[in-house]
Amino acid sequence: ALTAGIVGLPNVGKSTLFNAITKAGALAANYPFATIDPNVGIVEVPDERLNKLTELVKPKKTIPTAFEFTDIAGIVKGASKGEGLGNKFLANIREVDAITQVVRAFEDENVTHVSGKVDPVEDIEVINMELILADLESVEKRLPRLEKMIKQKDKESMAEHAVLTRIKEGLEEGRPVRALEFSKEEQAAVRHFHLLTAKPMLYVANVSEDDLTDLSGNEYLSAINEYAEKEGSEVIVISAKVEEEIAVLEDDEKEMFLEDLGLDESGLDKLIRASYDLLGLATYFTAGEQEVRAWTFKKGMTAPECAGIIHTDFQKGFIRAETVAYDDLVAAGSELKAKEAGKVRLEGKEYIMKDGDVVHFRFNV
Ligand code: GDP
Repeated sequence: ALTAGIVGLPNVGKSTLFNAITKAGALAANYPFATIDPNVGIVEVPDERLNKLTELVKPKKTIPTAFEFTDIAGIVKGASKGEGLGNKFLANIREVDAITQVVRAFEDENVTHVSGKVDPVEDIEVINMELILADLESVEKRLPRLEKMIKQKDKESMAEHAVLTRIKEGLEEGRPVRALEFSKEEQAAVRHFHLLTAKPMLYVANVSEDDLTDLSGNEYLSAINEYAEKEGSEVIVISAKVEEEIAVLEDDEKEMFLEDLGLDESGLDKLIRASYDLLGLATYFTAGEQEVRAWTFKKGMTAPECAGIIHTDFQKGFIRAETVAYDDLVAAGSELKAKEAGKVRLEGKEYIMKDGDVVHFRFNV
């Protein structure tokens, strides 16, 4: 499964947020024993459509789809110099698919800041610079190898070399790979390099509980927004402390709590959805009397690949996918009526699945 790694300088609220995630995950009845790794927190992906489908189909069970966050400990200045903890930090980041960076945007005299004052952009730059330096090192190792290949007139290496040279220039100017623009062919080469700053980044501004209801006075936030915009990254605002409190509440209590704060969604739910989008993930549904269930797939996957998410046999023996769009199903009121209205399609092996497809896979065993 794709996972987002949570990073942050000490004392920014990273553990508080990760606690909220694991507490919320522990409440999620469907994944009680899903993780034994203490650094992984599994949460359910909130999706209104699943509730609606449950009303419609009245199954015995409803199962949301899940999303994984990985807690990445130990960012220190100098990590890219590759000593001890620093090395481990970079190795852990290499394994995740997206980075969620918690940034301190709250004041609290009782919580010391590692550099003495709250300055979110400076904090962000400490982390991002370590990643840029680590990438520069990888690039500098790879370039001479490519140059050797070019001498042997290797075409592919020439293309890679051109891309890598641009990446190097960008990094030297302090720009992460995700902020650079590439053509479609170049993007394939970029993926091949597995660079840390090529991973999508989401900034999580941790504000105080009081600011949560009125963000206008929080100057840290505008600084973070401005920084993120320059590299085309998104920012979401949460209060880690509030999230930790909400995480243990039942749904109706949680709703009341949020209503009191004038919010329609918890920060954690916002974070889950933003991470899901960031990774290019989408959801399809299976809906039967036994169970209505949401499944995560990566945008661009074909019907057989999506079937394989449920079971490899579904992919191997794939015949077709009987598919109806969520909106069409809800508009029709039942699967039968959707069929009568001609809204249920028979899709074959080449079909690219869409977010919100409700499917029955047909397969040979
Ligand atoms: P980490 O080092 O980034 O993991 O930080 P922690 O999550 O341990 O938080 C450090 C301290 O900041 C703890 O005392 C938290 O209670 C406090 N803290 C975290 N989030 C907030 C917040 O939103 N507001 C305030 N006032 N304190 C917070």
